[in-house]
Amino acid sequence: MNTADSERLSHQLESVGYTPTEDVEIADLILLNTCAVRENAETKVYGRIGELMRLKRKNKNLILAVTGCMAQKNQAEMFKRAPHIDIVLGTHNIQHINEMIEEVQRGHTHQINVDMDNSVLPELEAKPNGTFYAWVPIMNGCNKFCTYCIVPHVRGREISRPVEAIVKEVTELGAKGFKEITLLGQNVNSYGLDFKDGTDFGTLVDALDGIPGIERIRYMTSHPQDMTKSMIDALGRSSNIVTHLHLPIQSGSNRILKKMNRHYTVEHYKELLSYCREKIKDVVVTTDIIAGFPGETEEDFLATLQLLKDVRYDMAYTFIYSKRSGTPAATMDDQVPEEVKRVRLQTLMDVQNEISYELNKPMEGQVFDIIVEGPSPRDEDMWFGRTSGNKMVLFPKDDSLSIGETVPAYIDKAQTWVCYGTIQKG
Ligand code: SAH
Ligand code: SF4
Repeated sequence: MNTADSERLSHQLESVGYTPTEDVEIADLILLNTCAVRENAETKVYGRIGELMRLKRKNKNLILAVTGCMAQKNQAEMFKRAPHIDIVLGTHNIQHINEMIEEVQRGHTHQINVDMDNSVLPELEAKPNGTFYAWVPIMNGCNKFCTYCIVPHVRGREISRPVEAIVKEVTELGAKGFKEITLLGQNVNSYGLDFKDGTDFGTLVDALDGIPGIERIRYMTSHPQDMTKSMIDALGRSSNIVTHLHLPIQSGSNRILKKMNRHYTVEHYKELLSYCREKIKDVVVTTDIIAGFPGETEEDFLATLQLLKDVRYDMAYTFIYSKRSGTPAATMDDQVPEEVKRVRLQTLMDVQNEISYELNKPMEGQVFDIIVEGPSPRDEDMWFGRTSGNKMVLFPKDDSLSIGETVPAYIDKAQTWVCYGTIQKG
């Protein structure tokens, strides 16, 4: 979501003449787009803001702006903690960045806009990112209020973009040569419900089927409470929806799910997943899990471990529970000690890594279509691409390949997080 917002902010900045730089020392404007979902994300940003003081002293014209969830959460308090910040821009106001910069240039620092009262989402153009994939926000906000989560407090209530606006954007992206899009929403399964006219995520999936040029449609994040069988049917029949499903469960204990305000049971989740596995051919399933939510006993934790073994996810994103002030869980009195949380996280990761490896291993000797993404972040001589199921395949750099090309990859070796392959071309 932040990447999508950043591309929209960049587009606006470039429209008034800014150009991007890799060198922070020569920047005239530094805009930090922040996350507040866990405490360490916030701590890092304050650290970075502190470091930027040096550049503000050096360049009197440098403008320092902070946007994203942390700006929305901390609001004017940010100026108190770091008076060298010029702009605090909330999550609902990124369309106003240029006006705020102008105000600062006129000599009025400490500009702030954290209003959240808009009822429609602004249609903002994204700066082309030079790749074959694009992020397409389909909604903003969240109405769920899971007791650990800051998102509804900083992203506000759900507002969906009209189906026609999304279809128009995706059609244009297809015409411009984009091959893959990712539909973004905190809970894509409640997409369209705010229109109260029968529109839902299934309607959107059907409407996006067959748009020329769009080979793959990814979507995140799905929510077990709102995902219905008819939406799964739509995912199953679509010709361009990917085989990857990210379906966060958060905990394998019904008692903890209730305390989290997640409104589904492990039994319901498993039933839903069986239906997905039946309808979406070769579906690759990943999840999110929180270790050490307040009140999580050893028994609750063992239920989560058991769930991992029962469901056998391709991958699980595991997080240590992080207290977010203003959320109900932060003041629950049975907080789990840090050390216990860390041990539980490690145990979850160990069990999951083994399962991921076991599930990847049979990919060896098979051929998967991948879209070439370019050099691996770790090794310039290796390139990579992803399968429809979002598995990363590394292969030796080959100058005859271009970024965005769809090619068959023979899997030579599978590991826990990546596979190594040979491109079969011509
Ligand atoms: N809307 C998505 C998730 C958004 S946040 C959903 O409902 O699944 C991404 C993930 O961060 C969550 O799935 C959760 O596992 C994790 N998370 C959110 N708040 C957290 C907190 N306070 N501590 C630890 N992990 C958290
Ligand atoms: Fe947070 Fe829950 Fe909303 Fe996801 S559904 S963003 S975890 S409140």
